[in-house]
Amino acid sequence: MEFFGHVIDGKEIESDSGSTMTSTDPYTREPWAEVALGDRTDADRAVDAARKAFDSGPWPRMGYGERGRILHRLADLIEEHADELGMADTRDMGKPITQSRGNDVPRAASNFRFFADHARLSTADTLPMDTGHHAYTRFEPAGAVAAIAPWNFPLMLETWKIAPALAWGNTVVLKPAEDTPASATILARLALEAGMPPGVLNVVHGYGPDSAGQALTENPSVDRITFTGESGTGRIIAAAGARNLTPVSLELGGKGANVVFADADLDTAVEWSIKAIFTNTGQVCLAGSRIYVQRPVYDAFLRRFTAAADALHIGDPKQTSTEIGPLASQEHHQKVRGYVDSVEAEGGTLVTGGPGDGWTVRPTVVTGLGQESRHAREEIFGPLVVVIPFDTEEEVIALANDSRYGLNAMLFTENLHRAHRVSAALRAGTVWVNCFFIRDLRAPFGGVGDSGIGREGGNFSREFFTEPKAVVMQI
Ligand code: NAD
Repeated sequence: MEFFGHVIDGKEIESDSGSTMTSTDPYTREPWAEVALGDRTDADRAVDAARKAFDSGPWPRMGYGERGRILHRLADLIEEHADELGMADTRDMGKPITQSRGNDVPRAASNFRFFADHARLSTADTLPMDTGHHAYTRFEPAGAVAAIAPWNFPLMLETWKIAPALAWGNTVVLKPAEDTPASATILARLALEAGMPPGVLNVVHGYGPDSAGQALTENPSVDRITFTGESGTGRIIAAAGARNLTPVSLELGGKGANVVFADADLDTAVEWSIKAIFTNTGQVCLAGSRIYVQRPVYDAFLRRFTAAADALHIGDPKQTSTEIGPLASQEHHQKVRGYVDSVEAEGGTLVTGGPGDGWTVRPTVVTGLGQESRHAREEIFGPLVVVIPFDTEEEVIALANDSRYGLNAMLFTENLHRAHRVSAALRAGTVWVNCFFIRDLRAPFGGVGDSGIGREGGNFSREFFTEPKAVVMQI
């Protein structure tokens, strides 16, 4: 079995206690890697390394140009190791290789390139004052950042946090999810190879509660906590941050509404709606897991959508022909199966789908369950979608907004006025019109309500990972 250690202060090491955990390939259901299992001692050691590298190391002092060169070199190395990185995420959590190798790895590289250039090219306000004074803004690095990541887009979401933090001169301790440790260790090895000084990017493995994750959030030497994961965990982490007055950025769960109006181009609506719910086997915070379809096109949409769902190829995520892999773990499979198995008991109809082999669930389309059903309200995080008819624009805006989540929404219409009007009315951090998951890294990303606190992306990441400072001078 391969071994993946912590990377602390420039060295790949085992846990202080010698403890390890295994990572299981959810397709073969066999362990494939042994991983250092960290606890508070390891987490504190990683924070000490990040602290030392920030307080007295070269990284915060070397300037945007030189830091940017190292970050671009890291992006080059990520591209060179795309097969290894892609396969690491695929083996850890069953993501089809065309998505990990084809999407997540290139996005990880572009996260580093984008934020390196964004920091270097960023401008700040200069304010000549009526009094003759002059005020200007500096963006000072915040310090040591704890980044805590989920398992659904391991490398992509980790780099979404690490890249801006590093580009602005911070040092980082990353704790990947316990189910997806491998790509984080590989990334930290590559960062050292790219010339990043020891202690700038540290990785500590372990669980959340009573383990490395909790220890990171409670360490008073941490200056920022950036977290992506479940809303319940977000509440715990916000409370931990509050005790030390450590600012937190929380990217949490979702229950994306996907609205198909009768004037939509149905080819477009079906194609993107399939991607919105079945990409990454439905394990996407942004998943369009409740589709509202205007009644005149309800039957036509449902027929075409169901046929497209049935055509998706389920199988071994290591094969390039596979579009739907297993769910990420046995525990997660049981959770999603609970929703699948209860559809009919709760009054719904399974139009297609249901249980698959091993830890697989087939693309599952459900009708007959209303707005109040668990399936339409709770984050299932699997390949199950509820389709609900509606009559008027006003009605569907109320239905879409009737959720404790507010991460994103999709709408399909060929009417320009309606597109703008409904986008404005939806309570969501991102609205996609006639598309899904298209990202501009300058745009704000985050959620409303239980979907999170704060925004990341472009200048929003800059605000979070720096201490903006006003300098006021008498000229
Ligand atoms: P999770 O909350 O169980 O775990 C996320 C991370 O937090 C893991 O690394 C875990 O070890 C750690 N953790 C757990 N408890 C902790 C604690 N008490 N203290 C410190 N760390 C702790 O989430 P998950 O199951 O890994 O991920 C799925 C969730 O993430 C879904 O709800 C999904 O919607 C959400 N998500 C949100 C976004 C977004 O951008 N908004 C993106 C991806 C996933």
